Amino acid sequence: MNHDDLNHWSKRAADWITVYHAGLRDRPVRAPVVPGEVLAQLPQAAPDAPEPPETIFADFEALIPGALTHWQHPRFFAYFPANAAPASILAEQLISGIGAQGMLWQTSPAATELEQGMIRWLLRALDMPQGWTGTIHDSATTATLSAVLTMRERALNFAGLTEGLSGQPRLRIYASAQTHTSVDKAVRLAGIGQDNLVKVGTRDDLSMDPKALRSAIEADLSAGYVPAGIVFCSGGTAVGAFDDIAACLPVARAHDLMTHVDAAWAGSAMVCPEFHPLMAGAEACDSLVFNPHKWMGAQFDCAVQFIRDPVDQIRTMGLRPSFLETLEAEEVVNFNEWTVPLGRRMRALKLWFVLRAHGLDGVRSRIRNHVAWTRELCEMLRAEAGIDIVTEPRLSLFTFALTEGDAATEALLTRINADGRIYLTQTKHAGRFVIRFTCGTWDCTRDDVMGALHVIRELR
Ligand code: PLP
Repeated sequence: MNHDDLNHWSKRAADWITVYHAGLRDRPVRAPVVPGEVLAQLPQAAPDAPEPPETIFADFEALIPGALTHWQHPRFFAYFPANAAPASILAEQLISGIGAQGMLWQTSPAATELEQGMIRWLLRALDMPQGWTGTIHDSATTATLSAVLTMRERALNFAGLTEGLSGQPRLRIYASAQTHTSVDKAVRLAGIGQDNLVKVGTRDDLSMDPKALRSAIEADLSAGYVPAGIVFCSGGTAVGAFDDIAACLPVARAHDLMTHVDAAWAGSAMVCPEFHPLMAGAEACDSLVFNPHKWMGAQFDCAVQFIRDPVDQIRTMGLRPSFLETLEAEEVVNFNEWTVPLGRRMRALKLWFVLRAHGLDGVRSRIRNHVAWTRELCEMLRAEAGIDIVTEPRLSLFTFALTEGDAATEALLTRINADGRIYLTQTKHAGRFVIRFTCGTWDCTRDDVMGALHVIRELR
């Protein structure tokens, strides 16, 4: 395939994408395939001879779309969304056509400076302090790992980087049981050890209890541990819990602890001023991650980390071997020194396109609709005999269960997902099997959300 072929086939691909999106409502949301079905259709080895684009494209059409779970399907109500606005798809097309790699300012000046510009736009959009800065990662997991590594090194006075962890004081990180497992993973991978992630008790509203936080830290100090940091949960994955950050911050300050906020899903909603109280205090923390790829239309992958002062993170993550030395090193930002990988995609372009093509008002109206429709659906389900609303809507997420018990709820979920018109997932809450409902795909409408009610009624 040469560049002339590319020109022809990328136009074909653009047509294909238009038809794909237009036809999504007619497809089952979840892939109706069994494990191994796709693999069995692939040849055992790559071809020695080149194959014509026609054949490759025909095989793509025959094999791949029918075996996908369609994340852009307007009735995808599972996990959290990974929404993709058309403007983001266009930006990704350009990024892939250019094939740039932005590890250093000089390897793609526009990539670095656009990233700085988008961080500035987003800080303003989410009403965060303008003095902060930040960077873009692939995922919230990587951003949280970067923050936890920074907590570790800050607490060890940066000795862990050079001497290793053996012989160092035992560290402790604090989070509530509602935080995502990316925090557990970060603490494990940082060599702190999962047993040293203290899951602080919560209040009735599932927020971290500041008194329990203080007691845990004091007990750890008495036992010879060194408290290193706190990860706050702003929009937990299971049922959307929010920590009361402002109430916990005095404890963090009293013990000079670094603070990081995981707002992977809910952060995008902070473009709407009415949702700010949910995250009050975030502006006084040290670091915050949110995923525009979840709920802001800048498709996967795009995780923004806001950082109050990047010095400690750069000291933790950055290395500057001679082959990466650049003449401008002192005057410019080399973002590889802020993140885990060396190589970097130009993720800022899709933010630039989405934020301009839709404006913040476009993002706000979508998020407000998702929240309003979720509440509406929740009330309709509440009115149904035999259905319990187990956790109330938090933004666009609530959970429900059948009053008959776990087995019946689980069987209902199996029937719903086998049916294919909507896709829902489950969690455990207070020992109970519950079905999560959340909406947020870019093209989701009120009719799609109400469609969920019909499916649930029909399949009960
Ligand atoms: N934090 C929360 C609250 C999440 O819901 C998720 C994923 O859904 C993550 C972190 C991890 O996100 P990522 O896939 O970007 O690593």
